Amino acid sequence: MNLSRKRLHQPSKLAPVRAAILAAIVLAVAAIFAAAARADRPYAPSRDYHLQNVRVSLRFDLDQRKVIGEVTHTLSTLRDGLTHLDFDCADLTVSSARVNAKDTTFELRDDKLRVNLAQPAKAGEKFEVNLRYEGKPTTGLYFILPDKDDPGRPKEIWTQGEAEDTHHYIPIYDYPNDRTTSEMILTVPGDWLTVSNGKLLSVQDAAGGMKTWTWRQSLPASTYLISFVAGEYKEKKDTWRNIPVTYYVPRGLEDTIDSTFSHTKQMLDFFSERFGVAYPWEQYAQTAVDEFVAAGMENVSATTLSARDMVHADLAAERAEAADSLISHELTHQWFGDLVTCKDWTNTWLNEGFATFGANLWEEHQYGADASGYRYWREQNNWMPSKELFPIPIVTRDINDSVEYAGNVYDKGGWVLHMLREQLGDEAFFRALKHYLEANRLQNVVTADLVKAIEESTGTNVDPFFDQWIYGAGAPRFAVKFTYEAAGKKVSLNVKQTQKVEGHVGLFRVPVDVAITTARGEKVFPVEVSKAEETIAFAVDGPPLMVLFDKGDKILKSLDFQKSPEEWIRQLQTAQEVPDRADAAFALGNIKDNDAVTAALGEAARSDRFWGVRNEALRALGRVNSPNARKQVLAALSNEQPWVRQVAVEQMGNFTRQGLRHNGAPRKGAFHFIAGRYSPPGFAPRHGHGRRQRSCSIAARMVGARKAIVLAQCRDQRFGPR
Ligand SMILES: [Zn+2]
Repeated sequence: MNLSRKRLHQPSKLAPVRAAILAAIVLAVAAIFAAAARADRPYAPSRDYHLQNVRVSLRFDLDQRKVIGEVTHTLSTLRDGLTHLDFDCADLTVSSARVNAKDTTFELRDDKLRVNLAQPAKAGEKFEVNLRYEGKPTTGLYFILPDKDDPGRPKEIWTQGEAEDTHHYIPIYDYPNDRTTSEMILTVPGDWLTVSNGKLLSVQDAAGGMKTWTWRQSLPASTYLISFVAGEYKEKKDTWRNIPVTYYVPRGLEDTIDSTFSHTKQMLDFFSERFGVAYPWEQYAQTAVDEFVAAGMENVSATTLSARDMVHADLAAERAEAADSLISHELTHQWFGDLVTCKDWTNTWLNEGFATFGANLWEEHQYGADASGYRYWREQNNWMPSKELFPIPIVTRDINDSVEYAGNVYDKGGWVLHMLREQLGDEAFFRALKHYLEANRLQNVVTADLVKAIEESTGTNVDPFFDQWIYGAGAPRFAVKFTYEAAGKKVSLNVKQTQKVEGHVGLFRVPVDVAITTARGEKVFPVEVSKAEETIAFAVDGPPLMVLFDKGDKILKSLDFQKSPEEWIRQLQTAQEVPDRADAAFALGNIKDNDAVTAALGEAARSDRFWGVRNEALRALGRVNSPNARKQVLAALSNEQPWVRQVAVEQMGNFTRQGLRHNGAPRKGAFHFIAGRYSPPGFAPRHGHGRRQRSCSIAARMVGARKAIVLAQCRDQRFGPR
């Protein structure tokens, strides 16, 4: 599941931003939590039976927002002496229960449907349980229908099973620790489309102008991954290696299909090759639905996405990467989450950490190592300051909600896999992933299964790594300084771990690359640090011009490195890797009243070779917040990439707030000017370069950049999805 795309695209290190991210997480989690009738269970329940097949037939009363259903469970018992079979069941009234085609008694209590057996069963006995029911689900199944505010909107019905909500529209075993094949039979108005799991077997005419759609998922999956979407959707069909690849959007959003989904087939190729296991299902459908409860959900072979996250063709050029992070996250889940599924919510990082990691892998593949390095850097700087997340291990039973610590299971989980890849090396790491997928194919797993697969395939015992990063909490907070001894040509690096060692947080033992640049060039020293404080000496050939601790940011950490402004400037200008230059930009943003610093940030904001460093330099200038800094930001407003210009305009908003005068009523033309810089093409003003900067400056003064941003967002809505 992807809770909110917003979380993946926040800038970092600034307190208000952190608060906004936390608020976004809290809201997303609260929304899901509020919808759930009960807490998610941290332990998998013991099972009485194994579900083999679930055959569901559904009809709908749109006026009453009611589902009318029949389900037949084929199951085999796992113990002797069972007198009844229990199913999770909420919001539903059951009218009949039959076991092996004979009516039987049943009772419904505390969200459990108990179906009585005629006589005690033996382990291994097979049963067919047929239930007829109806109800108005409060969660799990959603009716999106026209109303007086929006009489023309498309009619839609869609489901969301994760975490434990499938039983609000099907009486069913509703926990991940079992897998079943399934059939979804939907009777809907004749002009609707439906999407469900697996393969479409048939569409047949039914009474009253209706049609009955039959879908079959022929490989077993956990029941939270069962789904359907039905309604007034538009479809685009394609194929990949002879399986259907389809895209669906609500009527009216057809223009978003190509600009949102265009990389899907390349991703199917990429992940099939990278994970070493071909995409395993009979189709890949992606459906955008209105008012979805998350950004995306990896229902097996049939991902559901939020229509809010569709990208309009006119806006695609304005974004760094369309909807790729969402699309690649959910697609990664088709392997990590769906083919191999966490056994319980305690191990949900095996789903979400991998999906986060997979999205970053795609980013690296498609947009380059700079882009993925920058993304890890931002995720690190969002995660490290969190007082709520830091003391909690990734694997914890102490949860009421499967994504209670979303920042741990998603972002930190992705980071941990990133570190593991770095430490094992690509060849061993991806061999281990392939083995993990093959050994646990169509199984449910706990973290120990991943550890075992890595050891089996590479010989490496990763117990210490998992103990500190998965079962332990936190991450190292380093305070680092160095001295140079000219006589002995020696750099002494003093390294402290300043995180409070308590609870699940310990001292970390991590490999780091120390890179020392002298007049003769750079030398990299791999070292391991493990102590509360240690000093490491390095023989060098002259005075150090630049010292990097953990070059390239390979370890999840915070780093307080004492350096002079000149050293930071050199790092901003000359460090090879994006995280090191971004660190320098951030550090320089703390230095006020220094013309050389402001000029260096301005230079980086205009011309660093990677846009993310330009963004960080702009943000740093916003924090410097001097007339000089403002000049530098203005000079960067003509940046090539719209997503850099947007940060520049945002920073202008800071300056405006800080005391630039507003002269009377805002001018419409000025609004349009700034908005046009990062809004649909066609509105781009026809002025020359110099005049554009000048006009932008005037516009920012007169209307306040904040207002322009609001306007631009309004425009986005007009051009983008409803
Ligand atoms: Zn996910």
